[in-house]
Amino acid sequence: TITIRNLSKTFGDGDSATTVLDDVSFSVESGEIFAVVGPSGAGKSTLARCINLLERPTSGEVIVNGDSLTQLTSTELRQARRRIGTVFQSSSLLSRRTAAANVALPLEYLGATKAATKTRVGELLERVGLGDKAQKYPHQLSGGQRQRVGIARALALKPSVLLSDEATSGLDRVATESYLTLLDTLRTDLDLAVVFITHEMETIVKVADRVGRLDHGTLREQGDIVDIALDAQSLLGAQLRAPGR
Ligand code: ATP
Ligand code: MG
Repeated sequence: TITIRNLSKTFGDGDSATTVLDDVSFSVESGEIFAVVGPSGAGKSTLARCINLLERPTSGEVIVNGDSLTQLTSTELRQARRRIGTVFQSSSLLSRRTAAANVALPLEYLGATKAATKTRVGELLERVGLGDKAQKYPHQLSGGQRQRVGIARALALKPSVLLSDEATSGLDRVATESYLTLLDTLRTDLDLAVVFITHEMETIVKVADRVGRLDHGTLREQGDIVDIALDAQSLLGAQLRAPGR
């Protein structure tokens, strides 16, 4: 379970201060998918970076399984970050490393033995359906496969939270569906709390249990996926019509 409590982020100070996140609060249970949707510039990536503590929030708390991660020292923080796995847009894989070597990275940093790393990487790639692609380089994989390697890497240190920031942007419909299906399986199998961030309303409708809409740094509404979908449909009209309707 992850709880974001009264999180705010302001860049700069004095006259040049910009508040990008303003008192954002939400909670995601283990096994649940919470989507954050919002237009470009709404603060989604800033929220992602505050959640995984790549960025220090100006105020507010990030709490994972009851432990606040926002008051920690740098050393403690390095440990605590393991609890949150992140998948970014276009996966950020290292191009000179194979899929297996990319997934191995977090384990290498941790100082895991070669044998343990090899076993774990094998398991992880199997889990994301890429057991046969271990020795392929990123450029030899499709965009969707690269994002699934990104998931495997994010899961390497057994996080309890999976954070996905625009991970399906740039993927076609089939690859997006496959990514979402995988998320859906993983959250159940691994009891993950999933925070799925996107600007694509039609994507979240397929996968999320609950939705928050980020607008100019404020999380404006949270609620049932059907309400939000209907609301969005009336706002955006044809753009959101499901295929075949
Ligand atoms: P997109 O959909 O385009 O990825 P986003 O919702 O992820 O957008 P953010 O990247 O979080 O948006 O940016 C939100 C706002 O915060 C933007 O106006 C951006 O200029 C500002 N911002 C982000 N990082 C910084 C920073 N380090 N310093 C100052 N302003 C920043
Ligand atoms: Mg972004």
